[in-house]
Amino acid sequence: MHTCPRCDSNETQILCESPVKGCWVMYACPVCTFTWRSTEPETITNPEMYNPRFKVNPSEMGKYQIHPAIAQRRS
Ligand SMILES: [Zn+2]
Repeated sequence: MHTCPRCDSNETQILCESPVKGCWVMYACPVCTFTWRSTEPETITNPEMYNPRFKVNPSEMGKYQIHPAIAQRRS
């Protein structure tokens, strides 16, 4: 299990994996909605190296803006 670099939650999930197995894994945090790829630099993937200015407190998520819905794909 991976710790979310942004909010330090241990609830992260695998969002998807590279079409060619073993190239990269994309993770998502259901607590703060942060997503990251395993191949990004440690300043993004490592909670201890993530810029403290961009950290979020999970107990304060209600204070942040609502995320707009993703538009439906046009056919
Ligand atoms: Zn998070």
